[in-house]
Amino acid sequence: MNRPAFPVKFIDLTHPLRDGQPSFPGDPLLSIQPQASIDRGDKCNVSQVKMGTHQGTHLDAMVHFVPDGRTVERMPLDWFYGPAHVLRIPKKAREEVTRADFQRHENYLQPGARIIYETGWHRQYGAPNYFTDFPSMTQEAAVYLASRKIRLLGMDVPTPSYDYYEVHHTLLGHGTEIVVVESLANLDRVPDDFIFCGFPLLFAGRDGSPIRAVAMVD
Ligand SMILES: [Zn+2]
Repeated sequence: MNRPAFPVKFIDLTHPLRDGQPSFPGDPLLSIQPQASIDRGDKCNVSQVKMGTHQGTHLDAMVHFVPDGRTVERMPLDWFYGPAHVLRIPKKAREEVTRADFQRHENYLQPGARIIYETGWHRQYGAPNYFTDFPSMTQEAAVYLASRKIRLLGMDVPTPSYDYYEVHHTLLGHGTEIVVVESLANLDRVPDDFIFCGFPLLFAGRDGSPIRAVAMVD
């Protein structure tokens, strides 16, 4: 029998969304409450969800930081799907992720590449310091990644850097437009190479969306 032409195993790279879970400091809290409930005598279950567009595992549209940057619906669908490579860059709390950390893997940093870096911080998800003590990318590293013209940059930290304004401008800016995927899960369970899939909800005119990020593995 011929080998199927599609990957056969799916590994979830998404943190679950749960009512009341912590959000990035300053972002709206996540609320998921029953609106209709079979347990309470309604005919069906329907939940009401309130959250920010950058809740949990999600991606940034360019307009998140760039005033006339692309909104979600102006990002081509093929940006969210395709071969990805994981760089293992183990870091401790608050340690810097540097240009040298990426340059070491320069052969993978080709135009159009989807690159995901694993610091190990995904294991801290749910810990009180997840949003405050993550390993942080230097602006120099961001400028270097932008110069390599990669298509997508995924990470297991909630945001690339404490210098979030400068680094986001570098990654999302005109002429660069890297898809920034934040708060990925389970990166220690995937091989270095797989097909990445993570589509945003079509929040027309908006700045980002939670995604269901999945690794499709042969
Ligand atoms: Zn974001």
